[in-house]
Amino acid sequence: MTKNIHSLIIAIDGHSSCGKSTVAKDLAQLLKIAYIDTGAMYRAVTLYALRNHLIANGKIEEEGLRSSLEDIDIRFRTNLSKGTNDTWLNGENVEEEIRDLKVSNNVSPISALGFVRKRLVELQQLMGKKGGVVLDGRDIGTVVFPKADLKIFMTAAPEIRARRRFDEMKAKGQNPAFEEVLKNVKDRDLMDSTRKESPLKQAEDAVVLDNSHLSPKEQLDWILDKLTEMGVSISNE
Ligand code: C5P
Repeated sequence: MTKNIHSLIIAIDGHSSCGKSTVAKDLAQLLKIAYIDTGAMYRAVTLYALRNHLIANGKIEEEGLRSSLEDIDIRFRTNLSKGTNDTWLNGENVEEEIRDLKVSNNVSPISALGFVRKRLVELQQLMGKKGGVVLDGRDIGTVVFPKADLKIFMTAAPEIRARRRFDEMKAKGQNPAFEEVLKNVKDRDLMDSTRKESPLKQAEDAVVLDNSHLSPKEQLDWILDKLTEMGVSISNE
C-alpha cells in the first residue's frame, strides 16, 4: 500500500552542525511538507534568557527562567522574500541573532533544563501531530515522536562540521576563529550526549546517515530513496 507523505512524520536527529537543517529544509521544500527546526526553538529561549539577564557568565537563573517561560512565544514564519523559514520570538524575527556564537555557547545548558524541554517538546508535538512534517533536533526520534515513520540519525566528523559552520558564518559577514567554532561543536556534542534530560542518542530504529563526504543533493537523494523503499509516493506536485 502506498503511503501519503502528508500524513508522515520524519525525524532527523544528530550531532551539532552536521547539516540536519539544510537537508530537512530541502526535503520540506521538495515534498511541500512542514519543517520544524527544534534547535531554533532552544536557541530562541536562550536568546530570551540572555536578553533578560537570566544567564550571566554561564550561570542560569533557573527560577526566573521558569516563571518567564509562558511569556516566550516562538513561531516559524515563511520569509517570502528570502524563501526561508524564519524563527520569531515574541513578534520579532530573530533568525539571524539566534545563530550567533553567543547563543551557540549558551544553548546547551539551557536545553539541559527539564522544564525548558518539557515546554518545547509539548509545543513540537502540537506543531507536528497532524503529520506531513519533518523535524530536526536531538531527541525527535527518541522523545518527541518515538513513533515517527522515518528516523534518521545524522553525523559527520567534528572538523568537517566545524568547517561548514565556519564557512557559513563567514558568508554571513561574521569573523569567527576556526578553533573557537570547533571547540563549540565538540563542547555541544559532549554536553548534548551526556546530559540527564533526553540526551542525544540514536534511536534503535533510526537509520544512520554519515554525510562527511556527501553533498546536500546526495543526502536528499539518500532520504528520498529511503522513503521510496517504505512505499511512500513521492510527488512534488
Ligand atoms: O540544532 P542546533 O545546533 O541549532 O541546536 C542548538 C542546541 O539546541 C543543541 O546544541 C542542543 O543543545 C539543543 N537542542 C536540543 N534538543 C533538540 C534540538 C536542539 O537539546 N531537539
